[in-house]
Order: sequence, then C-alpha cells, then structure tokens
Amino acid sequence: MKRSSIAELLKSDKFLNEVKVKGWVRTFRSNRFIALNDGSTLNNIQCVVDFETFEESLLKRITTGAAIAVKGTLIESQGKGQTVEIQVSEIKILGDSDPEIYPIQPKHHSLEFLRENAHLRIRTNTFASVMRVRSTLSYAIHKYFTDNGFYNVHTPIITGSDAEGAGEMFTVTTLDLNNPKRNESGQIDFSEDFFGKNTNLTVSGQLEAETFAMALSKVYTFGPTFRAENSNTSRHLAEFWMIEPEVAFNDLMDNMDLAEDFIKYVIKYVLINCADDLAFLEQRLIQEDKSKPQNQRAEMALLEKLKFVVNNNFKRVSYTEAIEILIDSTPNKKKKFQYIIKEWGSDLQSEHERFLVEQHFKCPVILFDYPATIKAFYMRLNEDGKTVRAMDVLFPGIGEIVGGSQREERYDVLKAKMEANHIDEKELWWYLDTRKFGTAVHSGFGLGFERLVQFVTGMGNIRDVIPFPRTPQNAEF
Ligand code: ATP
Ligand code: MN
Repeated sequence: MKRSSIAELLKSDKFLNEVKVKGWVRTFRSNRFIALNDGSTLNNIQCVVDFETFEESLLKRITTGAAIAVKGTLIESQGKGQTVEIQVSEIKILGDSDPEIYPIQPKHHSLEFLRENAHLRIRTNTFASVMRVRSTLSYAIHKYFTDNGFYNVHTPIITGSDAEGAGEMFTVTTLDLNNPKRNESGQIDFSEDFFGKNTNLTVSGQLEAETFAMALSKVYTFGPTFRAENSNTSRHLAEFWMIEPEVAFNDLMDNMDLAEDFIKYVIKYVLINCADDLAFLEQRLIQEDKSKPQNQRAEMALLEKLKFVVNNNFKRVSYTEAIEILIDSTPNKKKKFQYIIKEWGSDLQSEHERFLVEQHFKCPVILFDYPATIKAFYMRLNEDGKTVRAMDVLFPGIGEIVGGSQREERYDVLKAKMEANHIDEKELWWYLDTRKFGTAVHSGFGLGFERLVQFVTGMGNIRDVIPFPRTPQNAEF
C-alpha cells in the first residue's frame, strides 16, 4: 500500500479507506491517541489506538520523537480539533526515541536552546513552519523571475577579485597554512596557491551578473554569499543567500518598480500558499508579545503587516530629504540614537532606517540618491557630482532588506571612480570591457533572502530562519 502524506489525508473527505502513514510521534496520550507528524503540514494526524489489541511492549515504544508506520482506516473524527483521524489496525516502530534523553519534549523550548539543537529543532512546529515558508518563498522567487522573462545565472562562488566591495571576505586556499611560501617583502606568495592567485568566497554575484545582463537583458542570481563581517547582530550571517536581479536598459526608477513589484508578489504568494504556517507563526508572536512590555509589542499582527506591505505603495524618499527628517527628529535631538546624525553625508545606521520606516513614514521606504562617498564605486554618478543612483529598500523591524543601484555605464567615469577607490584595473578588466563594447544603462539590486524570510515569518533573529546558521565563532552542524 502506498504511503499517504498527512497533508493529503487531512484534506481528504473520503472516509473508511485503508491508509498508511509514516511520521514522528509528537505525543501519545492515555495509551490511546497518537499525534503523528510527517512535516508535510503543520498539523498532526490523530491516530486512535485500541490498547487492548496491541502488546504493551509495543505501546511503550510509542514515545515522543519515535518514527513509526501506521496502518488503519480513515474515519470522521469523534473528537474535537480535527475532521478526520485514523483508527489504527497496525503499528510498526521504525526508529525508537528514548524519552529520557530526546531533547525536543512537548513543551516550550527557548530559541537559544533550539539553536544548540539545530539538527532536531526542525521537528518543532515553529521551525518546520519557518522552513516550509522559506522553501515556498524560494519557489515564488524563481517563479516570479521566470514568469517575467528573466534567466537564472549561476555566478561563481569562488571569486578571484577582492574588489566586489560589499564586505570582508573569506580566503579560499590550499596553501599549507603552517608554512606558506613568502615573497621578498614577507607577504604570502599566492602564485603557489591552487588558482595561482589569492581567491575568496564571493560577497555578491553582481559584477558577473552584469556581464550576463549585457547579453540576456534580464537575469537574476540566487545563491550563497559570504561575508566575514564580525557583526554579531540579529540581521547578519557569515553565510547567507542573496537574490540579485540585473536588468539591461532599466534606470533607477525601473529598478525601484521591479523591487517593489517583486517583493509584493512573493509575499502575496506565501500569504496564499502558506496560510496555515503563517497563521501559526502569527499566534506564536502574539504569545511572545504577551511577555513584553507594552511599548515593545508589535503594532500589527503578522498577517496584517504582510497584507499592509502588499497593499500599500512603498514611500520613495531621497537621501537628502531623509537626512533632514532625521536631523530634526526627536531621538536625534534628544540624543536617543546611538549615532547622532549631524550632517549631510553621514551613513545611516539601522536605528535611523527603522526610525524612518516605523516612526516617521509608517510604511516600507525606498531611499535613493545617496552620497557617492558612502556607496560602492559601480553606482552611477548623478549630474550633481556628489550623489549616486543608489537605492535601499527599508522594512519595519529589519531596516535594509534590499540594496541596489543604477550602474555606472560610462567607461571614463567608471575608470576614474575605480582609480579613486584604489581598485586595480587589471583585476576588473573584464568588468570595464562591458562598458567598452555596447554599454547601456542598466540596474539591479540585492535582496538578502534570510532578511525576507525574517520579515515574512516574524522571527526576530536571522539565525532562526536558515537551517544551519554560520556566525562568528559558530559553524556547528
Ligand atoms: P547592512 O548594512 O545591513 O550590513 P549591506 O549594506 O552590507 O547591509 P548589501 O551589500 O547592499 O548590504 O547587500 C544586499 C543585501 O544583502 C542587503 O540589503 C541585505 O538584505 C543582505 N545582507 C547583507 N549583509 C548580510 C549579512 N551579513 N547577512 C544576511 N543578509 C545580509
Ligand atoms: Mn553589511
């Protein structure tokens, strides 16, 4: 007999059928009711056992965490809380789980404790829901781009240039670290290394994606990205996934339209396709909020917040305007910000971004036209000579979720900016080539996938939305 998934059975309205399911026991009550879960859905199926027909030695092995196979009849549920249940005729223990030492007990566990048991935390409702939403979001992203004529590009993970400029990099090497060959000035001689040069893990696929946009017009990357930034925040990982669309002939306004349309689409997609999981995560947040002081509680429940983003326009504000708002703001005047904004040109910290989004505009914000001095060399210089066509999308609770720009397509301007930033032309000769042969206006952005998953699931810490987080001092599992 074919195994049915619990998701299928719970949707079924056909009763009295012989069915077979396999899964992990969540609870076994009164030697009679097994709550069985196989991860296909948030919900458990109730398996009703007539204890007189089974050996006691078998019943003893139905413990939380054990893997079992159940055969029986699908019937209309006699009890409350479910429409169908299984009247069990046969039970097989597939894998025992010692209740004395199994860490995931049917009680509340802290997220910190579960992080230490990341190999088992996926068996809790919270993490299973988060990971199902994550998977569905990933599908929605590929679907959005595919449906809109984009091609997916797999840009390299090992990069030979350290000029991507987005963050600190991890070195990739096969050199003997105890005894690397050094040149006359005492520096490590990478010509002996695997690639004959110093190589790193990528911090962004953008530069390579740009070359593809200059041939396929609309492309996107969706891959792992690495940053050796030693920032122990709830929004930074050393290894994360990034989505980077890049579009030929798009200017900054088109880029904003794309970012907004794209984000709304994927959120709408999970609202429709992950309704159960999102409803559960919303309840989880409501419970969590009860233990917080009034002023730290969420203003909107999760689903309301997601619908709000889908149904409202993102506010577009220039950096200059944002700085004026911030300089005049109460937390700035009362020195409540950790970093006080004194003048035009200051870089914005997440506290400022969140003030603009959560206190001032009360909606997602797209900031654009930043000072050239605080943004990367490849962003297109405006006519004023001091701002660049950059844009950051800022979200409540998260701060920056998207960073993007219109790219500098003018050969001479780009070359000059590279020189000013001490970027060796020899390293990025191929990037400059795209401006030499058939250059064109083009734009793109990077969306941190985990920040999106955080926003959609309401999880406060980025470590809880990726299967096995990599952060400073932590690469377990
Ligand atoms: P931040 O200021 O928040 O560190 P950034 O300016 O370094 O971000 P970009 O280089 O523009 O970010 O990267 C594009 C996107 O990648 C960001 O908008 C964010 O969503 C995501 N991102 C950046 N760094 C990380 C990280 N360490 N962990 C997870 N996501 C990240
Ligand atoms: Mn960063």
